[in-house]
Amino acid sequence: MLVETSPSATRREVRTARQQGLSIGCVPTMGALHAGHVSLIDAARQQCDFVVATIFVNPTQFGPGEDFLKYPRTLDADLEMCRVAGANLVFTPPVTAMYADSAQTIVRVTKLAQVLEGAHRPGHFDGVSTVVTKLFNTTEPDRAYFGQKDYQQQLIIRQMAADLDQPVEIVTCPIIREPDGLAMSSRNRYLSPHDRQLASRIFQALKLAEQLAAESPLPPTEIAWAMTNHLNSVDGIAVQYAVIADPVTLEPLADRSDSAVALIAAKIGATRLIDNQILRFR
Ligand code: AMP
Repeated sequence: MLVETSPSATRREVRTARQQGLSIGCVPTMGALHAGHVSLIDAARQQCDFVVATIFVNPTQFGPGEDFLKYPRTLDADLEMCRVAGANLVFTPPVTAMYADSAQTIVRVTKLAQVLEGAHRPGHFDGVSTVVTKLFNTTEPDRAYFGQKDYQQQLIIRQMAADLDQPVEIVTCPIIREPDGLAMSSRNRYLSPHDRQLASRIFQALKLAEQLAAESPLPPTEIAWAMTNHLNSVDGIAVQYAVIADPVTLEPLADRSDSAVALIAAKIGATRLIDNQILRFR
């Protein structure tokens, strides 16, 4: 497995692979890897000949007061996981290799990036869409792999790739969960044992929504209220949003429709977690 820190060396390696007729898959991550990330590398390995994982804690997607400085950095363990998972190249640049002091360009998706996460984390998606564009420019992938865990993010990346004619197929992979349902996340390691127990209520609230959509006549607004209620019924959880939305536009759904997505963001103690679940109405 190759490990590169420079964009130009990475591009050179990827182009060499392409000249050999290999297809390229890219898996962008911020490191602190877990089984969710590994599932993306697995999917890329199944569909592509040469898999590039990127590990970069991207400062521009963290707001003031967020956890950029204390975001977990576990590079040695990450490289070992990438090697075991079968990545061919890991691109792990320093911040200075990604952002010149003189940089003036951002990539901004408009409508989709203004709601939900975008409303609670101003500027977050500008950072995401800009860094993902740069990673695409460096790794020139045929396919890029994102988790449904970050539902809004994968929609935004799809929109961006289509709008900017980026020649890459976006693949969304299922959410990998802990045995009690908690979605795996690099941020789960911040949770105290007590908060870790509380955190499973997020998954319970999503399962409740799934059940109410499938088995009751309740409208989406009342299902969303039931999720909020489930989360608020114990101390230590602060709900930021718990909504039922259109799975493509993310606009809140007033009426039952063919498909929907339930999305939750909540703070458990000081740790902010997100999760989601596709719903089918009966
Ligand atoms: P991150 O390192 O948190 O930026 O995540 C990198 C990629 O892994 C993103 O596309 C995430 O959506 C995806 N990911 C994170 N957690 C999970 C999970 N539990 N299951 C599947 N994919 C995930």
